[in-house]
This record gives sequence, C-alpha cells and structure tokens, in this order.
Amino acid sequence: MNLPAPLTLLRGGRLIDPASGIDEKKDLLLRDGHVAEVAAPGRVRLSPEDAARALTLDATGLVVAPGLIDIHVHLREPGQTHKETIATGTAAAAAGGFTAVAAMPNTTPTNDSPEITRWMQSPERNASVRVFPIGAATRALKGEQLNDFAALKAAGAVAVTDDGHPILRDNIMREVLIAATRHGLPVIQHAEDTRLTEGASMNAGPVAYRLGLRGMSPEAEYGLVERDIRLVAELERESKGARPHLHVAHTSTAQAVAAVHQARRNGLRVTCEVAPHHFLLTEQHVGCYNTHAKMNPPLRSEADRDAMIQGILDGMVDAIATDHAPHAAHEKEVEFERAPNGITGLETALGLCLQWLHGEWRLPLSRVLSLLSTQPAALLGFKGRGTLAVGSFADVVIFDPDAKWIWRAADSRSRSRNSPFDGWTMRGRVRYTLSEGRLVYSA
Ligand SMILES: [Zn+2]
Repeated sequence: MNLPAPLTLLRGGRLIDPASGIDEKKDLLLRDGHVAEVAAPGRVRLSPEDAARALTLDATGLVVAPGLIDIHVHLREPGQTHKETIATGTAAAAAGGFTAVAAMPNTTPTNDSPEITRWMQSPERNASVRVFPIGAATRALKGEQLNDFAALKAAGAVAVTDDGHPILRDNIMREVLIAATRHGLPVIQHAEDTRLTEGASMNAGPVAYRLGLRGMSPEAEYGLVERDIRLVAELERESKGARPHLHVAHTSTAQAVAAVHQARRNGLRVTCEVAPHHFLLTEQHVGCYNTHAKMNPPLRSEADRDAMIQGILDGMVDAIATDHAPHAAHEKEVEFERAPNGITGLETALGLCLQWLHGEWRLPLSRVLSLLSTQPAALLGFKGRGTLAVGSFADVVIFDPDAKWIWRAADSRSRSRNSPFDGWTMRGRVRYTLSEGRLVYSA
C-alpha cells in the first residue's frame, strides 16, 4: 500500500454506481487515489504527459462498480496467524472484489485498545485493501467493563462489538449503547442468548435430533434482538438529540429480521446484515457432521433461509456481510461438537450474490452492488467509499457479470480453506480490483 497510486483510465465499461443512480457506459479517470473524472466513452482528455504515463484498463463488456465493502470479517491478526493474517485476509478480499473490510476485535489479544487498533492499520501489516478495525465494546469481550470508546475511535475504530460474545446483561448493554452514541459509534451485537445455547453446536431442529446434537433455538437469537431493541427504544425516549445505532450482526432467523423491521417502522435506528450462507444454506447442509457447515449463528430451517431471501428482496436487510472466519484444516477436522465455528467468505460473496440474488431471484444488479458496497459504507460511515462519484476514493471492482466459474477452495488467497461452497458454480468473475487507485488484484 506504500507505492503511489498510478494514473489509471478505465475505458469502455458499464459503470454501475448505486449511490448516484448511474448505470451506463462511462470512462473513469483515477488520479492520486481518487476518482478524478467520470465521462462518456472516449471523452476523457489527457495531456500528452499524462497519456504517456497512464495505465489504461479495457473494461469493455465488464461492469465497473464501487469496490465491495465487508463490514464483518475476522482477520485473525494479532494472534492467530496460522488461520489468517491481515495480509492474506485482505489479499482474499481483493480477489473477491472487496476494497474495504471491517475487522472484528476477537483477536488474541482482543482489540480493546487504541494501540492494537492502530497496529492493525499500520503499513507493516501489508494489507491489500483498507482495514477498518472494530473495537471491543467490553474489556476482553467479557461483557463487564466498558472500554474507552473515545480512545478507540480516535485510533480509527468504526464501531464497537463483542462479536462472538453477546453482551447479555441489560445494564451493560445499556451503558454500551449510551457511551457509543455519545461518540457516534454503532453498536454491533452478536445476538445469542448464551444462557439458552450452552453445549449447542447447530440449529435446534430435525437434523440436530437425528445427529444427537444439542441445538440452538431461534429464540436465543431473536430474544436478544428484541431485548436490544427495547433498550434502544428506552434510550431514544430519554435522550434528546443523539440517537443510538444498533446493528444486528449475521441475522439468521425470520423473527430477528421481523423485529428489526418493526423497530424501523417505529422510527428506531436499527440495522441488520445477512451472510450469504444464511440465505443459501440450511441445517440440512450439516448432513453427516460436516464441520464446514458449522457456524454461529448456525444454519437454520428452510423457513428462516427463505425469510433471509425475502428480507433482502424487500429491502429490510441493510447489508450483505460475509462473517469471513478462517480456520486451519486440522482445527475443522475434528468431531462436530469440538470444531470451531465459521467459514471463509470473501472470495465467494460476489459470485454467490450474482448467481443467486441476481440470477435466480432477479434482484437488479445495482441493488446487489448497493448491498455489497453503498449500504455497508453508509452503515459504518465510510466517507467517500461505496460510490464512484468524482472526488471519492478510487476503490473499484471490475467484473465480468456473466462469466460462470467453479469456486475451488484450494485456490483461495486466504490462509484457510474452510468453505462449504467448494465446487459451487459462481457467476461474475472479478477481473480487476483497485484500492485507493492501486491495482491490488487482476485475473
Ligand atoms: Zn458473531
């Protein structure tokens, strides 16, 4: 990320910029890491010196869109570099068309300090794309003592969460919401009432019953979402001015999406994300103890999966986020109950969204791209990203919208291979990814 961004001309592509409502053939000039010009094809005029040094990419037949933004990834660094590093995780992001990722704080040690927040963003990490750390809401994710949100924010944290460890106690969640609101930070909740899920390793339902596994009830998720919404409503009534922003991570149950929907109808600032695996897979994919189908929240029922699809099509879901959670092969190759939760997702998100949301369920391309870039940027307040308007960052993904290809986990740039989508057909192949003007991926 240290080389100066070259002058780049993107020619002949179909520009889709959901934020400015553009979907037509345009040329783009990227200068000094920003979008310098958006013009009709062939209309960008360069001085002879600029013409001599500019890198020209032919985007004929390709879609040019704002770089994708994933607001929920686990980069595992510091501390678990055998699973992933910031360098390998962001290389996978670039290959998947992402130009910014928000990194969860459940690292080792936990990111609950400005020092670690800064360390994650330093040039020595060799990130291919922009990393926005999310700070831990409470000390060591224990749900007891609040961290210093002002210091975290000053160091670059874009939100606070105890992801993986829900904040259960009402008074602590209330304090977190109050403090985060004071500092203009969203609170991201991993909604799981762990008092109801002890010893559980998958969704409560017929498959868990058949396999003899303890199951997590949908109530463990939506019960906590409803509690959080009650707290947000109370705070809204009490406070004048600043409004709390609750973001529900990886929503997986029909009732949780319904609760978010109702909260919004009541005028509350409550948003949610859905991961591709929750709108594509069900508990049936656990099959015979397949640990690549083990994640938290777990794969749910068909009705829940259908509710995720409907929530996306209806506009109730604010963002697609992958919950990219790399684990080493030896960690996943153990008994189902002992295997860690999570799958990788950065390199499969676009291909799955184009194949299914766009190809199968007819969601317009611009809305798919909005869910993967414009809306997540707005959600976490990433200024100048999620759009290709003049002046914004030159974060661009260029892909062939119709190319069909087979995803092979073995080819992943991630250090880990734990994907349930190995061998799946993807649609839409990333050709180039530019992060702040630098070409960070090409194929
Ligand atoms: Zn989580």
